[in-house]
Amino acid sequence: MTLAALGTLACQGGPATWVAVHRLHHAKSDRTGDPHGAQHGFWWSHIGWMLTRPPHKMDPKMKERLAPDILRDPWLRLLDSYQLVWAGLSVLLLYGLGGWSWLLWAGCVRLVLTYHATWLVNSAAHLYGYRSHPTNDRSTNCWWVALLTFGEGWHNNHHAFPTSARHGLGPGEFDVSYWILRVWQRLGWASDLKHPRRAPRETLAAVC
Ligand SMILES: [Zn+2]
Ligand SMILES: [Zn+2]
Repeated sequence: MTLAALGTLACQGGPATWVAVHRLHHAKSDRTGDPHGAQHGFWWSHIGWMLTRPPHKMDPKMKERLAPDILRDPWLRLLDSYQLVWAGLSVLLLYGLGGWSWLLWAGCVRLVLTYHATWLVNSAAHLYGYRSHPTNDRSTNCWWVALLTFGEGWHNNHHAFPTSARHGLGPGEFDVSYWILRVWQRLGWASDLKHPRRAPRETLAAVC
């Protein structure tokens, strides 16, 4: 609940929107139907898709079709329906606490940085880096995206094992998000962390 509320403050859509787009990406990765397919190049997958052809315009029923489980949860549905209200309240809170400087740094600058970090997973981590697993897409493991996204840049690993809580699988593939999840598991805040059933390590192709 808390993490979903905090995640919504990233202003990247509510939980159901985010999950629906993500599931569509996994189902059609880098093929026709992928909302941000990297086969169209860096800028399209980074930001162009969102500016010109966001998925909700392609398919207004996308959330009902692809994220019905999320919409059945009353809290997640509330967050999804009122994401802009929630974001607006956070803006008022920042301004109330620290004035324009807080609004600039904790609002605008934070959003721009997190937007680009997230978008780099869609763009750079489908174009630059190495591939450890023969997935049916262009996903790559890209160390500098992993650095910026606390481990999400090990994106070829993620496409190979999409339910795994752990993205960094090979030597040197640091995964800060997974380390945090392990701490939370010890504290009882997280449970049922999933892992790959196998972890082959075979570099298939160096993309750059
Ligand atoms: Zn991907
Ligand atoms: Zn994914």
